[in-house]
Amino acid sequence: MSQKVKDNLKKETEKLIKDSGITPGLAVVIVGDDPASRVYVNSKKKACAEIGYYSEEHALPASTTEEELLNLVEKLNNDDKIHGILVQLPLPKHINEETIINAINPKKDVDAFHPVNVGKIMIGNFDFLPCTPAGVMELLDDANIELNGKNAVVIGRSNIVGKPQSMLLLHKNATVTICHSRTQNLKEITKTADILVVAVGRAEMIDGDYIKEGAVVIDVGMNRLENKKLVGDVHFESCEKKASYITPVPGGVGPMTIATLMKNTFTAAKNTIK
Ligand code: NDP
Repeated sequence: MSQKVKDNLKKETEKLIKDSGITPGLAVVIVGDDPASRVYVNSKKKACAEIGYYSEEHALPASTTEEELLNLVEKLNNDDKIHGILVQLPLPKHINEETIINAINPKKDVDAFHPVNVGKIMIGNFDFLPCTPAGVMELLDDANIELNGKNAVVIGRSNIVGKPQSMLLLHKNATVTICHSRTQNLKEITKTADILVVAVGRAEMIDGDYIKEGAVVIDVGMNRLENKKLVGDVHFESCEKKASYITPVPGGVGPMTIATLMKNTFTAAKNTIK
C-alpha cells in the first residue's frame, strides 16, 4: 500500500517538475544520536530519493543549543528549495520541543505538529495530514472498511497519534471513544469496538481478550524487545484469530507514516505555486 502511494507521488512529482520547475524539497533535522531516530531519518531520506525529491539532512550534535536549532529552522523557513521541514523527535531534554515546533513555518510543517495545523485538523479543513493517523485512514480506506456510524476506540491520547487519530475517525462519522492510562474497565470498552486503534507504546499489551469477534485492529505501536525484535502494542497471534482485519508490525502502519510525510511534502511544494 505504501509503495502504491510512493509510485503515484513519483509520477506526480515528474509532472510537477516538468510543468513548474519545482522539485519538492524536504529538510530532515536530527539532533543527537538516538538509534531509533537514526533509523526513521534514514527511511525518510530513502523515500525522498525513491520519489525524486530534493532532500537535505542536518545532523547536529546532542550538545546543540536551542538557539542554534532555532537559527537552523529560521534558515530553512527562508530557503526556497525546502518545502517541508521535519525535526525528528524526541529532542535532547535541554531543548524545548514546543518552542522548536512553533518556530517552523506552518506552510512547511509537514509533520502537522504546529498549533495552526493542529487547529485545522480539528476543524477538518487541513493542508497537511497528521502522518501516522492519516496513514491509518488510508489503510482503512484501501481495505474498504466502513466507518460511518461504527464504534471506533482509540487507545492513546498523544498529540501525534491518539488525538489526531480520533479526530480523523470522527470526521468520517465514526462514534469515537478515546482511552488512556486512567481509563477504567479498558477491556469492556475495547470489546465494543468495531475498529480498534492501539497507540500505547506497550509491547503486545492488547491480546485477543480485548477485542470482539470480527473487529478491525490497527496496531500503531513500535516496541523494540530486549532480543531486538520489533513488536507492536497488539499481540498479533491471539488477535488475528478474532479480527476481520489486522495490521502487522513491522510493515503495517509504519511505512504508511512515511508515505503520508511524502504526500505532505508534495502538497507543500505544490502550494507554493500561486
Ligand atoms: P505516548 O507515550 O505519547 O502516548 C501513549 C498513550 O498511551 C498515552 O495517551 C497513555 O495515556 C496511553 N497509555 C499508556 N499506558 C496505558 C495503559 N496501560 N492503558 C491505556 N492507555 C495507556 O506514545 P505515542 O502516541 O507517541 O506512540 C504510541 C506508540 O506508537 C508507540 O509504540 C510508538 O513507538 C508508536 N508510534 C508509531 C509510529 C508509526 O509510524 N508506526 C509513529 C508514532 C508512534 P496517558 O495519556 O494517560 O499517559
